[in-house]
Amino acid sequence: MDPQEYEKFRRDVFAAIWRDLDPLEAEIEDNESMPMDRLMPMLRDMGALGLLVPARYGGSGLTIEQYLPIIAEFAKVQGGIRVLVHVHNSFAHALSEIGSPEQCAAILPGTVTGQTSVAFALTEPDHGTGADLGTTATRDGGVYVLAGKKWLITNSDIASHFIVFARTSPTEVSALVVERDRPGLSIEPLPETMGCKGGEHGVLTFDGVRVPAANLIGAEGEGQAHLERALEISRVFIAASSLGTAQRALDLSLEHARRRVTFGKPIAARQAVQRYLAEMATDVYALRHMLLDAARKWDAGQRIPLEASLVKLFGLEAVGRVTDRALLVHGGIGYTRRTPIERLYRDARLNWLEEGPPTIQYLVAARELVGGYEWADAFAGGRHG
Ligand SMILES: Cc1cc2nc3c(=O)[nH]c(=O)nc-3n(C[C@H](O)[C@H](O)[C@H](O)COP(=O)(O)OP(=O)(O)OC[C@H]3O[C@@H](n4cnc5c(N)ncnc54)[C@H](O)[C@@H]3O)c2cc1C
Repeated sequence: MDPQEYEKFRRDVFAAIWRDLDPLEAEIEDNESMPMDRLMPMLRDMGALGLLVPARYGGSGLTIEQYLPIIAEFAKVQGGIRVLVHVHNSFAHALSEIGSPEQCAAILPGTVTGQTSVAFALTEPDHGTGADLGTTATRDGGVYVLAGKKWLITNSDIASHFIVFARTSPTEVSALVVERDRPGLSIEPLPETMGCKGGEHGVLTFDGVRVPAANLIGAEGEGQAHLERALEISRVFIAASSLGTAQRALDLSLEHARRRVTFGKPIAARQAVQRYLAEMATDVYALRHMLLDAARKWDAGQRIPLEASLVKLFGLEAVGRVTDRALLVHGGIGYTRRTPIERLYRDARLNWLEEGPPTIQYLVAARELVGGYEWADAFAGGRHG
């Protein structure tokens, strides 16, 4: 989207987030479910469902740099809505990059209006992710037959299509598009989560699910490469979500510190509290600039496996520290329900797990570093600068 058009679009989306979605927060937190009949039309009307879908499929075709402030703004308002919007956009984007023109033409235009939605089905109850997967897809003539179980699959209530990772041979993982109405696929919800309330994260059981061979994404055995590409940029989206949560926690802490008077002075005048605020702002500022760097590199066509893992890692640690300090600045009242800090604190903890926990980020980052990663960055100096 051209910069002028984008500025207007971004302002309109921000206004709609606060006007339409903020009033839903208490209802979602209390009921631990989202009013989907009202929410989805709101998201569609504000243009939040096709943010990363290329314009040729009817979406807004935002760059990553344009998208990040928008997903961050959702995180400020209510974590469950942020997760829904994140998964819906992130995996439509992934399909636009790894899917065939036929798969994209069939699925992506519907994502813009909410008629279709793409979810990502990788995690399993009885196996580790990637090379350890237990779900199998066995070729039988013109179809693949899927058997196995996935869990924690976000948007399992609204997804029309799942990108499913399954083993097509003992050594190969492949990715397939599976429609939700395929016979043999059953979907059960998991219990409600600690934070990011209202989302549905289901258990998918594949019991001899037959899908046409045309549903394979790319070629057999390309699944590991597809999941690495999809998760690489999605980690940046999670870090932007961490930034939104952290920024809101900082803003609320500043307001509270100016307002709360003890021993005749606002607590904002106390050096101990000022230190918390300065440390929170340092994390927010650093995260913002790591995100911009990662986004600009991706938008310029570079792969960023190291930057993506580092920004995801820094983001989850930063939002952890910022929400810890925000609770301290708020004092006891911040620990009660109905204060936004209590919700932000819980929402932030999901960022630890999304698109891989810290150990996975350490593993990816160390693999890239030890392998002689080219930073493509003047600060790296010497032979790269
Ligand atoms: C609300 C929510 C939504 C989610 N949405 C999705 C989704 O839409 N799609 C999807 O596919 N997944 C989804 N997930 C799953 C999420 O990505 C995983 O929970 C996360 O990556 C951790 O994997 P796991 O749960 O299998 O934990 P485990 O792999 O069991 O890990 C448990 C602990 O052991 C450590 N560990 C595990 N293996 C190793 C190893 N080899 N070396 C070192 N340490 C290790 C981990 O770091 C962690 O600390 C979601 C999770 C949640 C909570």
